[in-house]
Amino acid sequence: MLTYEQARRTVIDQIAQATGPRATANHSVWDALGFVLAEEVKTDREYPPFDRSTRDGYAVRAAEVAPGATLRCVAEIKAGDTVTQSLAASTCVQIMTGAAVPSGADAVVMIEHTNRDGDAVRFERAAQLGQNIVPRASEAKRGEVILSPGMRLGYAELALAAQVGATQLRCASKPRIAILSTGDELVSIDQEPGAFQIRNSNSVSLAAQVRLAGGEPVLLGNAADRIDDLREKISRGLREDVLVLSGGVSMGKYDLVETVLKDLGAEFYFDAVAIRPGRPAVFGKCGSAFVFGLPGNPVSTMVTFELFVVPAIELLSGAAARDLPLVEARLGAALNEKPGLAHFLPAQVRWRGSVPEVKALPWQGSGDIAALAHANCYLVVAADRGQVNAGETMPILLRKDIM
Ligand code: AMP
Ligand code: MG
Repeated sequence: MLTYEQARRTVIDQIAQATGPRATANHSVWDALGFVLAEEVKTDREYPPFDRSTRDGYAVRAAEVAPGATLRCVAEIKAGDTVTQSLAASTCVQIMTGAAVPSGADAVVMIEHTNRDGDAVRFERAAQLGQNIVPRASEAKRGEVILSPGMRLGYAELALAAQVGATQLRCASKPRIAILSTGDELVSIDQEPGAFQIRNSNSVSLAAQVRLAGGEPVLLGNAADRIDDLREKISRGLREDVLVLSGGVSMGKYDLVETVLKDLGAEFYFDAVAIRPGRPAVFGKCGSAFVFGLPGNPVSTMVTFELFVVPAIELLSGAAARDLPLVEARLGAALNEKPGLAHFLPAQVRWRGSVPEVKALPWQGSGDIAALAHANCYLVVAADRGQVNAGETMPILLRKDIM
């Protein structure tokens, strides 16, 4: 049985091998959040386009400013002003943050370090050459590539594109991810469940996780635990880039997903991973589509999606697979887990003091969505641990979606 690291690596290797260039489309910077860039974005001019003051104060010749020196203020420059006059010897110019520094000036002295009396400005301390000035073209030259294909567009990337006037961005099309739940016990979320039925909440978490990972969910509803229904709906799902199934991959008599996939010609890269929850997770390929069969217990479905499906979607959306957001925290209360499988426990991490502290939350096992809804991370207990004392350092997997 693969470890979760090996299973994740398998997904990344298989998908990286199989993916060619993706379709692209233009999106406005207003709408491109979360897309992956498919072109280079270059600067339209130098950045900054002029020597820019980073402070409110006085533009001076540094050599003329010793402690106690006084210079005559001859003008004022505010952000956006056109600056043509150079600074005359023995004078200074009042200047605002973001304004262009006049030629001749080589330092800006913060207003806090000056005293003014009429036109006379007295300086408290010496000025250093270049202080409080961002030189023209020091951030980027004209025509320099500032955003590259494969970059995910977050708010800073979008602002950078906007800064250089790139209002339309060519982006990779999002991979289409079919979502199919399975189980005779399930009803859709807008139906009233019978006494022994449950609502299909997995389709909701899966659709949200697909969106967060950069994919386009394609909802296929639920299949009954019957070969014919599974076959029909799985075949439909295989027309998309990826099919994600929930349920029907355990050892029960009505866990038929693998059987049906095999009949349809699927090749499997793994059909179990040494984790709890999530052990029966399946990954393979059927025709041109990649298939994940995730166990149906809601927390199992969510954990296995984060570990294995997220990197697949990232690669298929034209980006690199991101590293898992694993960090270390100090365990707040002792743990006693059964060794053998790596455990992912719903947990709360708090940043109080210098070291983050994590506590596992009480839970009823992999069906307990409420425990995860109160967690901001998973506590990762390695397969060879089990007993862990309070105060030990443990890895935690952050829930990026809510942090
Ligand atoms: P399975 O992996 O098919 O054996 O499902 C395990 C358990 O997970 C089921 O008994 C249900 O309680 C629950 N479950 C399965 N599918 C879903 C779903 N789509 N939404 C919510 N709970 C589910
Ligand atoms: Mg089932």
